[in-house]
Amino acid sequence: MPSDQPTLPGPGTPASQRRSAVTHCVIVFLLLAAGRAAADPSEAALAVPLRVHLLRSRAAGAAGTVLTTADVERVVEKAGRIWAQAGLSLTVDRVVEERATGPLAESTGTLGSESLSSLVPSASFDPRAFNVYFIRRMQANGILVPHQGLPAIFVKDTAQLRQVPAGADEPIPRVLSHELGHALGLAHQEEVQNLMASGTSGTSLNALEKQAARKNASTVPWIRRVAAGQR
Ligand SMILES: [Zn+2]
Repeated sequence: MPSDQPTLPGPGTPASQRRSAVTHCVIVFLLLAAGRAAADPSEAALAVPLRVHLLRSRAAGAAGTVLTTADVERVVEKAGRIWAQAGLSLTVDRVVEERATGPLAESTGTLGSESLSSLVPSASFDPRAFNVYFIRRMQANGILVPHQGLPAIFVKDTAQLRQVPAGADEPIPRVLSHELGHALGLAHQEEVQNLMASGTSGTSLNALEKQAARKNASTVPWIRRVAAGQR
């Protein structure tokens, strides 16, 4: 496996994270296999489209987020600042407020990663964007779940991170950015201030990660290259 793809976490890593890493490998492979070679990914910004889903459920439901569209704007703006360091520009094509689907849509327990895909309403899934689902309660802070051959990114409202110097000032934008890093082929890093450190508020990307993320993003058909003035 190339070094820019996720590696399996070591012993002591929670089972949910090990499953997540396996999922990441599969997804990166699918994305890269579906992509096309880019001539030179080092030029121009790359516009990464997001479709944001605010899943709703009854008052105490685990699937229902309490985030608002104003929260989404703030979260994506902060995540965008994190990814700007790699020349990636996050764009939101649409924010969809919708009921979660499936048998666990109204569950009041904490959702496991295996149940998340069933919550996704099929009609609103965008096959030409990273679909981001905010939900209230699940085991992980954030996770990628395969859906229709693409990574669906789940982020928990109540995500908690270990604060590190120069880290993100709130967890949700960092968790979203971290999962986007996995979706773009980045593996976990030991360095705690790195965006890809597990469970910290770190936001930095090293030169190799920036290069790898851009290279991988440039192979995804629906990630466009944009001139500086069009960002
Ligand atoms: Zn991770």
